[in-house]
Amino acid sequence: MTLLEVRNLSVSYGGVAALSGVSVSVPEKGVVAVVGANGAGKSTLLKSIAGVVHTRNGQIVLEGSDIVSLKPHERLDRGLALCPEGRRLFPEMTVFDNIKIGAYRNHNSGQFRQRLDMLYDIFPRIAERRHQVASSLSGGEQQMVAIARALISQPRILMLDEPTLGLAPKMILEVARLVQTVSAEGIAVVMVEQNAKLALRISNYGYVLETGELRLEGASAELMKSDHVVRAYLGG
Ligand code: ATP
Repeated sequence: MTLLEVRNLSVSYGGVAALSGVSVSVPEKGVVAVVGANGAGKSTLLKSIAGVVHTRNGQIVLEGSDIVSLKPHERLDRGLALCPEGRRLFPEMTVFDNIKIGAYRNHNSGQFRQRLDMLYDIFPRIAERRHQVASSLSGGEQQMVAIARALISQPRILMLDEPTLGLAPKMILEVARLVQTVSAEGIAVVMVEQNAKLALRISNYGYVLETGELRLEGASAELMKSDHVVRAYLGG
């Protein structure tokens, strides 16, 4: 079943096209990867879905209804959570307070505690460091906090913008494991990555964006065998 469908989406910044006629489908379960080089429009796609950039044309259909006119917080209420590129934590606030920000739409404290305990189970490293300020954590740990902040809202779709950027190889593997854990919980994941190898390895379906247009799409295992993908993104 399709949960979210982006149809023929176009976005431009000051008259310069960043996305042109892009269509992407996100099923209820599984991991969707969007790969592409710097400036291909990957972040713009996620920001459009989250409602933080204005779309010029096209539809964003969640469970049959177009959400293009909804504000970012209304989209969050419908289950769309974005974990932005660069993590965007408040460095001087504690890990706990950073995560709490993600629950700002939910005022049910019982639910919050329950959800938090569940997240601490998934992220034991973060649980241990919950009273530390975010800036004292390693890059990988900060990425975990940013993901936890997105997950505390109990999203149906978790959108990750370059979650492995700048991380050490060991942490990249941890993030990959985490994506699989989140997916196994029944949350759909859309992952935007310059690290095509990793993204295609852990996703079910993939899209290749090039200068704002979709160049290729397909089952990730198939995409990894495509000549173009091998040549342009997998270093072979
Ligand atoms: P990266 O991995 O470098 O973030 P990306 O694939 O996510 O790249 P986007 O950030 O979506 O690409 O950018 C797509 C295009 O839109 C680029 O040419 C970029 O310079 C431009 N762009 C992005 N944000 C803005 C903005 N706020 N104002 C003007 N142009 C922008």
